[in-house]
Amino acid sequence: MSMGVDSFVNWLRDTAGSLHENAAYLTELDSAIGDADHGANMDRGFQAVVGLLDETTFDSADDLLKKAGMTLVSKVGGASGPLYGTFFLRFGTALAGADLTPETLGKALHAGVEGVLARGKAELGDKTMYDAWAPALDAYDAAVADGADLGTALGAAAEAAAKGRDATIPLVARKGRASYLGDRSAGHQDPGATSTTLILESAARTLP
Ligand code: ADP
Ligand code: MG
Ligand code: MG
Repeated sequence: MSMGVDSFVNWLRDTAGSLHENAAYLTELDSAIGDADHGANMDRGFQAVVGLLDETTFDSADDLLKKAGMTLVSKVGGASGPLYGTFFLRFGTALAGADLTPETLGKALHAGVEGVLARGKAELGDKTMYDAWAPALDAYDAAVADGADLGTALGAAAEAAAKGRDATIPLVARKGRASYLGDRSAGHQDPGATSTTLILESAARTLP
């Protein structure tokens, strides 16, 4: 039974490349409403994931994704490290023993995002990465309900994430460092919603 190990390796490598290319952009976004490290944090974490992929061969997608999650927790740091780390840990756990189908991937995405919520307690409209994840899950579910294949559903999810990312611009932050700025956080795009969109765009390019 193929559990899509190669697909997930491709996704993580492609994500690492995208975050590396966009590191300066993500850090610039974080310099407006945070502490100017989001690009560096994500780049460092995903380069460590690439290191893990280079040195280890994984037999199962869940083992791979759980180790990637632990690497992100330990290397990204800040607010986003535990959040993305938990996403990949729960995402991988949910995929254990499952074939890769639109339904199983959907369940895993939901499990990952529930982990983000359990850790970060964000609500929709708080100007966080959840503002990209939430519409992405809705679009993914709607596409699968319409009979879309996995790649098509992920494409819809990535498009919805991008809209959610853009919709963070006028919002006042209620979680994380940006919330310290109060009303002055309005008018700036959330860095984490931006990295989430890059991760989902990469998923749409590389999975299944
Ligand atoms: P730090 O703020 O510790 O420097 P990063 O700059 O790496 O961490 O990440 C900042 C991003 O983390 C924000 O743009 C936001 O999207 C996300 N974030 C912060 N707090 C939360 C939270 N409680 N729930 C969800 N996302 C959050
Ligand atoms: Mg920061
Ligand atoms: Mg920081």
